[in-house]
Amino acid sequence: MVVGSCELLYMPHPSLSSQTANSLFCLTVAPSQVLQGFAAWQQAGVAIARLGQRPLIVGGSHTLELMQPQWQPLLEQQLQISQAAYTPDCSENTLASLRDAVTAHQADVIIGVGGGKALDAAKLLAYQCQLPVVTVPTSAATCAAWTALSNIYSDQGGFLYDVPLQKCPDLLVLDYALIQTAPQRTLVAGIGDAIAKWYEASVSSGSSEQTLIIAAVQQARVLRDILLQKSAAALQEPGSAVWREVVDATVLLAGVIGGLGGAQCRTVATHAVHNGLTHIPASHQALHGEKVAYGILVQLRLEEMVQGNQLAASARQQLLKFYAEIGLPQTLDALGLGNITLAELRQAAEIACDQKSDLHRLPFRVVPDQLMAAMVSTTTPVEMGRQPVGISSTNQES
Ligand SMILES: [Zn+2]
Repeated sequence: MVVGSCELLYMPHPSLSSQTANSLFCLTVAPSQVLQGFAAWQQAGVAIARLGQRPLIVGGSHTLELMQPQWQPLLEQQLQISQAAYTPDCSENTLASLRDAVTAHQADVIIGVGGGKALDAAKLLAYQCQLPVVTVPTSAATCAAWTALSNIYSDQGGFLYDVPLQKCPDLLVLDYALIQTAPQRTLVAGIGDAIAKWYEASVSSGSSEQTLIIAAVQQARVLRDILLQKSAAALQEPGSAVWREVVDATVLLAGVIGGLGGAQCRTVATHAVHNGLTHIPASHQALHGEKVAYGILVQLRLEEMVQGNQLAASARQQLLKFYAEIGLPQTLDALGLGNITLAELRQAAEIACDQKSDLHRLPFRVVPDQLMAAMVSTTTPVEMGRQPVGISSTNQES
């Protein structure tokens, strides 16, 4: 199908999980180039000019307005810039109008500026139009600047599906000065999204024999430990060395794990819970990583309740302390969802339990009633000795 000058190429690449001895697979491990440092953006003009002369800058309307004085590095290279907002959401309709903007401007490179949805929209647009893409995260809230994956939402903000892309971005510009202007809450959310890598990868891939997946799972463990050890100090001193290490962990290392591990290593119940919650309008005030962080507790609770997993119980207690320390939400109430109806809770649980949901990568069956019970009991104290014993397929030990 051809729309304007853009050819639509939805070619899901085979994941490592479906790899057989004779199958061909493609790895999308890392961006071609990463520029990182304070004022990295100010020095990015030359690298961007190598990719194209007519950038279309994609971001939220507020970000595009705020960033107006920041286009100087592009203008210095005599680049012909145009801007387009990804409103109302990173949705199919928005992508259609962004493709029109590419055609109208005759853009030859896409620059995504902003948070996860802005970057996802820019990456998918570039993929559909077969153009190079530059990602410029303005917060450390997700690893979207790194990955070869875009999430698509409805115009109302409900998660619909994700699209695997052919490659990671051509250039990632991680400018700590830009990240430092974002509210602290975005870094806290990024910590929640990044630490989920361990709780998901260890369940989905903890017993994999594949070299790169073993490497990805071990890096997820390293990422968890860095975050557990350094997050509180980082949040106290924005801009410091320890703060930069935590920003690198959420934006870069979390992306490395997704890249090395591929689809198999990606998500389990944690992100499925997030996806279900996005269909409750009141959840939109909570950031992606905040919902994901809550989703980790729900996943651990499921492992405790359904499987009798004691390691999951102690991992949950450890995380509850960590969340209290850095300000991640532990309950629906803390996510601003204390007043949702039972019907809304059920709807979120049913979406999370959809047949195609990654939730079913858990090593046991889950039905919506069980998920709802887990969702309302994330802070329940561990009841020692009540669980069935001897069942543990996860790697939650440290
Ligand atoms: Zn995420």
